[in-house]
Amino acid sequence: MVISILKVEDIHSYYGDSHVIQGISLEVFKGEIICLLGRNGAGKTTTMKSIINLIHPRQGRIIFEGTDITFFPTYQIIRMGIGFVPEDRRIFPTLTVLENLEIVQPLNQKKGKKWTIERIFREFPILKSLSNRKGGKLSGGEQQILAIARALLGNPKLLLLDEPCEGLAPIIVEQLTDLILSLKGEVTILLSEQNAKFAISVSDRGYVIEKGRIAFYGDIKELKENNEIKERYLAV
Ligand code: ATP
Repeated sequence: MVISILKVEDIHSYYGDSHVIQGISLEVFKGEIICLLGRNGAGKTTTMKSIINLIHPRQGRIIFEGTDITFFPTYQIIRMGIGFVPEDRRIFPTLTVLENLEIVQPLNQKKGKKWTIERIFREFPILKSLSNRKGGKLSGGEQQILAIARALLGNPKLLLLDEPCEGLAPIIVEQLTDLILSLKGEVTILLSEQNAKFAISVSDRGYVIEKGRIAFYGDIKELKENNEIKERYLAV
């Protein structure tokens, strides 16, 4: 059965008078990996931030698991089960990898949670080997893996990844591809990307954003084969 986990209905978001998101609608179903593609400045980050009310949409609705969360504060939305990994990752540079993970533990005390630090270390052994290294001494790729792991410790039902490939070397992007694919079925993912090759290789469906509007949406196969869309709206 197909279950809707997130529904974004015709949202409009602004920075001051600047009308940046001009009526975006999208839907994510349980278990899917969905990408939001678009060039620099298209409105991907603003859409992500609008979903968790870091930027309040002036019009439209956000529905999460059937509940209208449009006016809920961000902390409550996160507690309801949406994890957010921002573009700049927000790793604490003076804390070790283990300490960066332990910070989330208090939220994670309840029994029956899927993700624990033990499981993170088992599934992402690189983090175990780096557990005593300070966050500020990690490479960009290591920081991205740590940021995703930290978000998983909140045991989210939906994970929002904002431009996870930003600034990463191609070889690291390949590792990230494997990591994201390993999460399929574990957690539903909505990711934003400029790197169309990466996004297409991990996603089930995609939305292309251009100037704050959806320019295209469809199955990943359709997107992959649509050269016009790729040339017009994506940097490929
Ligand atoms: P990027 O790859 O640059 O993150 P993006 O698709 O995520 O691109 P957004 O960051 O959502 O795009 O930006 C959408 C538009 O909003 C751009 O025109 C950008 O200049 C503008 N914008 C973003 N942040 C702000 C801000 N804090 N104040 C004013 N305008 C902003």
